[in-house]
Amino acid sequence: MTFENLGLNESLLRAVAAEGYASPTPIQAQSIPHLAEGRDLLGVAQTGTGKTAAFALPILHRLNGKKRPQEPRRKPRVLVLAPTRELACQIGESFSVYGRGSGLRHTLVYGGVGQVPQVRALRSGVDIVIATPGRLVDLINQGYADLSGIEIFVLDEADRMFDMGFLPDMRRVIDRLPKQRQTVLFSATMPEPIEKLAQQILHKPVQVRIAPVKKTTELIDESLYFVPQKQKTKLLTHLLHGEEVLRSIVFTRTKHGADRVTRDLQKAGITAEAIHGNKSQNFRQRVLAGFKANKLQVLVATDLAARGIDVDGVTHVFNFDLPQEPETYVHRIGRTGRAGSSGTAIAFCDAEERSLLRSIEKFIQRRMRIESKLPAGIVRHEHEREHQREPREASHPRERGENRKPAGRHPAERGPRSQESAPATGEAPRNRFRKGKTSRAAALHRATEKRNMQAAAKTAGARKWKRKPSANQKPAGAVR
Ligand code: AMP
Repeated sequence: MTFENLGLNESLLRAVAAEGYASPTPIQAQSIPHLAEGRDLLGVAQTGTGKTAAFALPILHRLNGKKRPQEPRRKPRVLVLAPTRELACQIGESFSVYGRGSGLRHTLVYGGVGQVPQVRALRSGVDIVIATPGRLVDLINQGYADLSGIEIFVLDEADRMFDMGFLPDMRRVIDRLPKQRQTVLFSATMPEPIEKLAQQILHKPVQVRIAPVKKTTELIDESLYFVPQKQKTKLLTHLLHGEEVLRSIVFTRTKHGADRVTRDLQKAGITAEAIHGNKSQNFRQRVLAGFKANKLQVLVATDLAARGIDVDGVTHVFNFDLPQEPETYVHRIGRTGRAGSSGTAIAFCDAEERSLLRSIEKFIQRRMRIESKLPAGIVRHEHEREHQREPREASHPRERGENRKPAGRHPAERGPRSQESAPATGEAPRNRFRKGKTSRAAALHRATEKRNMQAAAKTAGARKWKRKPSANQKPAGAVR
């Protein structure tokens, strides 16, 4: 399959060739012909599968082929809604790259920055608007965004928007759109509210399901250090001084943590900057540009700020703190090993984080390789041996001794779980340690789990037990 087979116009073919895309990814091959014909589409696919080009290319193809309505100033004809400003910026970049020379104009609309330039851009007339829901609703309410000319509407990462509490804003936007339009919905998973929304807004959609890029990618070399919290910075600094660490992202759980780690790295002579919800949009963009231009060795990020960061050539991802959600671990390490190159993901685990580690290992269905060599002055914590003694089942192809797939193809095409036919539910794999399992291994596991919970409860001390935010609650720093 080639891009020529998909019937895209010449300028788009030139653009994808210039980007170095040899052939369409599965989602592109399956979506582009239908979208170019104007059909609605429901795509179950994650980031990393090439889904942005899967909708951007046919949109540009259609806009180029259609005459613009004669109006005193351009009204937007395409609206793309995305959950975060980072993702919106990346989609904008894709439209810039693929739409070069097309004469089509696009603009970005997102919160966290002043609205004046966005209002000005809308006033001057654009063809494509890429927006986060909250700010767009603000501009609609103030009469600055007119969506009456929208011909194509894309909801990207719909499940993520739902998670971030944007469902009401999404509905407000949809209410303003013309009924007669093409609608495209992409989502990594299909929670019930999104399924319902899809049924309401899509008309006889083509359905495309692409398996998650992979639970753990075969191109990423993952390992883990059992290291006390207090010594993590020392270990990180040591590893960052390694020759092979060219460009890396360090993930911390909190904004405060990101700032602290950044300060410590800077003191150690490493060029590092932090991006998180408390940093201004301009600062974040400057830092990202510096990172892409190799002026910065390390980007320290929280998960929200890092969502959708798509920088090629990230050699290392460090999980300075283990994430609360196992899925987040997979998102984090997916920042490396992109577009066919290999990468390294290193996680640090303190005694307190062992239950998080266990959840991650259940999710990715394998044990992480533990780095036994620690640099001088770093003390291995005693939980390492205990963790290694826990029951284990080899379930990953690498552990079963199956061969790796050859490198060099798009991530979405690699690996046994990434075949087009594989289910793409995005659900966590079957719990291998589920209750009711009668083996001694499971009993041992439960006993260890209990011990850990008791230890965690003890260290939590008098601290009040915080309730997890509900799925609909907008996290701090979420973009409006
Ligand atoms: P996305 O899923 O849209 O975030 O895309 C993930 C990455 O794949 C981006 O870095 C794209 O530049 C890259 N990409 C998209 N389409 C292709 C393709 N056909 N061949 C190789 N890389 C691609």
